Amino acid sequence: MTTEPGHNNDSPSLDTDVLIAGGGLAGATLALALGQAQPGLRITVVEAFPLSAEALPEDYQPSYDARSTALAWGSRLIYEKLGLWSRLAGQATPIRRIHVSDRGRFGATRLAADEHNQEALGYVVDNRWLGLSLMAALQDLPNLSWQAPAQVTDVEPLASGVSVKVSAEGEKRSVTAQCLVVADGGRSGLRERLGFQVDHSDYQQHALIANVSTANCHEFVAFERFTDAGPMALLPGGGPGRSASTSALVWTLAKHQLDELLACSDEEKCRRLQSRFGWRLGRFTRVGTCHHYPLVLNTVKENVRPGIVLVGNAAHTLHPVAGQGFNLALRGLMTLVDQFSLAVNDQRPLGELAILKGYQDRHCQDWQRTVQFSDSLIQVFGSQSPALAALRDAGLVGLDLIPPARRWFARQAMGLNHPATGAKS
Ligand SMILES: Cc1cc2nc3c(=O)[nH]c(=O)nc-3n(C[C@H](O)[C@H](O)[C@H](O)COP(=O)(O)OP(=O)(O)OC[C@H]3O[C@@H](n4cnc5c(N)ncnc54)[C@H](O)[C@@H]3O)c2cc1C
Repeated sequence: MTTEPGHNNDSPSLDTDVLIAGGGLAGATLALALGQAQPGLRITVVEAFPLSAEALPEDYQPSYDARSTALAWGSRLIYEKLGLWSRLAGQATPIRRIHVSDRGRFGATRLAADEHNQEALGYVVDNRWLGLSLMAALQDLPNLSWQAPAQVTDVEPLASGVSVKVSAEGEKRSVTAQCLVVADGGRSGLRERLGFQVDHSDYQQHALIANVSTANCHEFVAFERFTDAGPMALLPGGGPGRSASTSALVWTLAKHQLDELLACSDEEKCRRLQSRFGWRLGRFTRVGTCHHYPLVLNTVKENVRPGIVLVGNAAHTLHPVAGQGFNLALRGLMTLVDQFSLAVNDQRPLGELAILKGYQDRHCQDWQRTVQFSDSLIQVFGSQSPALAALRDAGLVGLDLIPPARRWFARQAMGLNHPATGAKS
């Protein structure tokens, strides 16, 4: 990583080729993928938070209270291509089975990695480890400039790209680029400032996130449990080597239930969790620091304009219980890198609308299907209607009994129903 980007003879009058606003999981992964695919391009990342100076520690231990992300098998394939998987694997807990059930009803389905001849359906990775690994890999890119802490505050279209205002240390300066990638997260200020319209639906629920300890080891099983008060997921944690007694909890609750729960003692939280989740993992013995988020489904109506493209949570924010948001974003980023490479090969401007529309068109089916998949899980399983409950039982039993249906469901959960991962169907 350098503070002085390299040179690109095609756009000498512009300060950089691609400016990525936001160096979170999506922005940093795009910088890595594009920097590797197109070493001749100058890439600038502007990130509001200071860059972590911490080197990758040999003896890294995730904190009990760290947050984590479930990476689908398809995302592992992507990170393998980027040369990052060997780093991530050291802290990635495999998900060997997924158990989907409806609390208090008989329907259930089980997905197993060995049915698909794979070592795992996905992996649970501590977000901080993912971030540190990305930062370490970005250090090796000579064509990357990282500006942090700094913020993109304004954007102005130019005939040949965009001009953005970057604010750092109380000063503002203009930076011009062929293309601006907006990767500033779910509450994207830039999306709003640029007037991109969003389809918004509020699930009227909040997600409570915490690491929990149980009397029994998880045996690398992820649980998706649908309850009348909302879905919950427990993802196996503790590292790759051994089945541990720590799992990552995502528990969705109405606001008043969340407030009530947050005010409870740790013992009471364990008790309530036990009554919601049941005894599949034995007794809940500890609940770590709780974080919580309002749950919305946001998808932009258009995600490209000349010289501008939205990615990651800035483009789509999904319900977290199915663990699909970042996995979807990753597949989109690979498609965007392909489109930028096409522009480079054909000597066309990176911000050309046809290039960016190509990205939108290629990513759109995966996007719609994934949004529908997570949203319908929530709608169907969140309903308290007896008719839907019976359908759910039928659906879960059907999924369990009909191999092609289960295979489709498993491939969707693994992020393999799309060519961006490079997986064979
Ligand atoms: C509770 C929960 C659990 C989840 N679990 C999963 C899961 O298991 N699997 C999965 O696939 N997905 C999961 N997700 C979704 C996943 O977390 C997101 O998809 C992912 O974090 C999005 O990354 P991002 O880079 O788009 O946004 P962010 O991570 O929000 O990054 C945006 C970055 O932009 C920076 N920024 C903001 N404004 C500016 C500006 N003006 N200029 C410069 N920088 C700026 C911010 O500092 C930040 O670093 C979960 C989400 C939640 C809420």
